[in-house]
Amino acid sequence: MPTLITNIKELLQIREGSVSRVSGAEMKTLPTLKNAFLLIDDGLIKDFGKMENLYEIRVNEVIDAKGKMVLPTWCDSHTHIVYAGNREGEFVDRVNGLTYEEIAAKGGGILNSAKKLQQTSEDDLYKQSAKRLDEVIKLGTGAVEIKSGYGLTLDAELKMLRVIKKLSENFPITIKATFLGAHAFPSEFNNNKEGYVDLITHTMLPKIAAENLAEFIDVFCEKGYFSVAQTEKIIVAAKTYGLIPKIHVNQFNSIGGIQISVKYNALSVDHLEVMTTEDIESLKNRTTMPVALPSCSYFLGIPYAPAREMIDSGLPLALATDYNPGSTPSGNMNFVVSTACIKMKMTPEEAINAATINAAYAMNVSETHGSITKGKKANLILTKEIPSYGFLPYAFGSNLIDSVFINGKQIKN
Ligand SMILES: [Zn+2]
Repeated sequence: MPTLITNIKELLQIREGSVSRVSGAEMKTLPTLKNAFLLIDDGLIKDFGKMENLYEIRVNEVIDAKGKMVLPTWCDSHTHIVYAGNREGEFVDRVNGLTYEEIAAKGGGILNSAKKLQQTSEDDLYKQSAKRLDEVIKLGTGAVEIKSGYGLTLDAELKMLRVIKKLSENFPITIKATFLGAHAFPSEFNNNKEGYVDLITHTMLPKIAAENLAEFIDVFCEKGYFSVAQTEKIIVAAKTYGLIPKIHVNQFNSIGGIQISVKYNALSVDHLEVMTTEDIESLKNRTTMPVALPSCSYFLGIPYAPAREMIDSGLPLALATDYNPGSTPSGNMNFVVSTACIKMKMTPEEAINAATINAAYAMNVSETHGSITKGKKANLILTKEIPSYGFLPYAFGSNLIDSVFINGKQIKN
């Protein structure tokens, strides 16, 4: 039986099904309907319109949204939420003045997470990750991409990907899996980096493809991590198994990661804190979605992706959390949207577009997520009473969500 939401103060992000992303100046427009209704049936958005056009219909439940707004749930296209333990010790070290390099030298960083994960059972890893997933759903995330990359051995990478698969079977939200074996070099390969690249391409990839454990391939393309040539080798190998590239690039240095990603039609390039004019040019008129991760910049105190420059050059932009134990221990997309406005000078319209429709594109769920469109999943955020949608990024740190709907089912906070 259908559910009807009535008296919606403003229904945000209403789109035709043909719109899968917005770029440049288009990002300044957020199509909305004031004083609206929305009808949910069979887990999908069945209809919506102005209250004055509401017709007689038999429904199971009517929810009065007077003073409240409805928008599509956030899509978080870049996370590492399957991990073991936390790294608050390193955080305190950093607060006390140690550098990222000094912390890594003390055994911190990605290798620290890998060691913990290798020692954690699949069941325990599942439980720790499920708790995080529960939290982000209540914060309004209705689709999430999750990466491996804290395993760094065949067995541990498979363990991570199986946990991601189990989460997607047990949770109502859409989950996409990315293989990120190329996240860091395990110390035993310090003098044989090509050997680890071979392990990824010759051993891990065939096994992951055979078990159908990942849809995307990712590489941390950065100085001191994976070179452009190594990134290319991994992308090419992964493509033979049908994996689509989504690549970590330009976090600390611009070394050509964008160009190599675009060459292989990457679905997204993520981070982008350091962008040259040439990098921006390379992304023009491409299918690749640039993705910014402002919570990571906030937590590490590094520069933010130059969103204004990118959008003003006509590029699309998506936003994601980068939820991970080292550089972004937060999966709060509401904070991401606020921070994008406060620190990256994106308008509320641009930030909401970046976190919904463009974010859905960046994780290949445009058909079902990212906008209020008839036939898409009824994955919705019902806000508390707010004066305008600009209040969402403005009142940073406040939880303005009344409840979240996943497949039409209301999850109360
Ligand atoms: Zn990341």
